[in-house]
Amino acid sequence: MPRLGVLGWPVAHSRSPAMHEAALRELGLEDWHYQRLPVPPELFAETARALPGAGFVGANVTIPHKRAALALADTASAAARGIGAANTLSFAPDGTIAAENTDAPGLLAAIARDPAGPGSLAGRSALVLGAGGSARAVVWALREAGAGEVAVWNRTPERAAALADELGVTAVTRPRAADLLVNCTSVGLAAAGADIATDGQEVPEALNQLALTLDLVGGYAYVVDLVYRDGLTPLLLAARERGVPALDGLEVLVAQGALSLELWTGHPAPVEVMRRAARNLD
Ligand code: NAP
Repeated sequence: MPRLGVLGWPVAHSRSPAMHEAALRELGLEDWHYQRLPVPPELFAETARALPGAGFVGANVTIPHKRAALALADTASAAARGIGAANTLSFAPDGTIAAENTDAPGLLAAIARDPAGPGSLAGRSALVLGAGGSARAVVWALREAGAGEVAVWNRTPERAAALADELGVTAVTRPRAADLLVNCTSVGLAAAGADIATDGQEVPEALNQLALTLDLVGGYAYVVDLVYRDGLTPLLLAARERGVPALDGLEVLVAQGALSLELWTGHPAPVEVMRRAARNLD
């Protein structure tokens, strides 16, 4: 029974198991299984190395293990090395571990698939909010896609400066105008039980945390929010209010998952099935 899973801490709320299980059933891979693998940081390396021996052929990696995943791998793709993190591990029969990062190409695929998207990113300017793991992947992806000037803003400016330095982009201390706005912070993640429809304060509070206003949001041609939740995030609501086309983080989740699945199984991913499962529509 080939096994797959997602390594994270915490990982209880991950939508990857539902998404990948639905895809495996759709592909007729009845004996394959995908499961949650909650692993604390101090046990990550030894657990990951033990997975091939337990029948695993691959694993996704999420918070907080993406950098550690790259570090323990025997080989790594150019994307994983360039980003400095891996979200996908593949295990060879001899136990060799290969690291890939599908977050970056997943973002580009999700934007390309969006009928309301900007089409080519070549020459487009972008502002990336955040300086954590996902911001690194997004900045790398935008550069790969030939974007024009890429600026990074972060609540803690030193982290934006360090990321910008390392990846060869510009750090800014206030959000600036650009063609694209990409939120890579965790602002907008739903607090347990929060309901945006009844909490009128959530949009202004979230914009405030991102040093944005509705008017500033209205100045971008396209918005991507990596954060996803049931319903719309505050940033997606703000974009909608200003008539700016926007991409939901769930689409990026589906796109990166589809690329991981193709790597492990060699089959084209059933993207629509994965989208429905991730959105809990079945
Ligand atoms: P991370 O490495 O922990 O980075 C978190 C970022 O959020 C940092 O830049 C941090 O700023 C910022 N931040 C946190 N709280 C903030 C606040 N109250 N106000 C302003 N900034 C704040 O996390 P990550 O891995 O980059 O993930 C970020 C988000 O993207 C998460 O919500 C994650 O679920 C989502 N994500 C989605 C996908 C997808 O496929 N859709 C993929 C990856 C990640 P400081 O440096 O100042 O702390």
